[in-house]
Amino acid sequence: MKIAIYPGTFDPITNGHLDIIARSSELFDEVIVALARNSQKSPLFTEPERLMLIERSLAECYPERTNIRADAFHGLLVEYAVAKGATAVVRGLRAMSDFEYEFQMALMNRKLAPALTTVFLMPHEEYTYLNSTIIRELARYGKDVTGFVPRAVSEALREKFEIKYH
Ligand code: ADP
Repeated sequence: MKIAIYPGTFDPITNGHLDIIARSSELFDEVIVALARNSQKSPLFTEPERLMLIERSLAECYPERTNIRADAFHGLLVEYAVAKGATAVVRGLRAMSDFEYEFQMALMNRKLAPALTTVFLMPHEEYTYLNSTIIRELARYGKDVTGFVPRAVSEALREKFEIKYH
């Protein structure tokens, strides 16, 4: 049983994340989308809201894929991953700009847990420019974000910013 952890802040989950999740679910027996509490970031959505949006997005986009689940964790990723019996950590690579930070993290995680391998997956190129920060900014100023995020997320953003589209 090959278990992979896909950790992130998911504030909120986007179609780019979902692309990586779909690819992972084809490579591994089980994929745990793991919401990380990151004290250095002050997220727009609370932890329960982000977890609910991941769950709703999975139900909306991949109802037939039964090997994906959502969870949240506190503390060190490697400790969580080992406790779950995972052998891999999945991260998405969009551009060279992601590389340096990801490379450092992967090497540090390997040092901490040698049996855990970090796997980098590239999304479809249409998601290369997509990130949660841009989505939050677009939604904040009333722009339509359908096409970049699942419906559950665009509705939650609209409610969050109390914007009425006509
Ligand atoms: P973190 O704060 O850990 O970077 P994110 O939620 O921003 O959490 O991202 C989680 C993972 O998903 C990271 O590996 C990130 O590179 C990847 N990711 C984010 N957006 C995309 C995207 N549009 N396409 C592919 N991977 C992505």
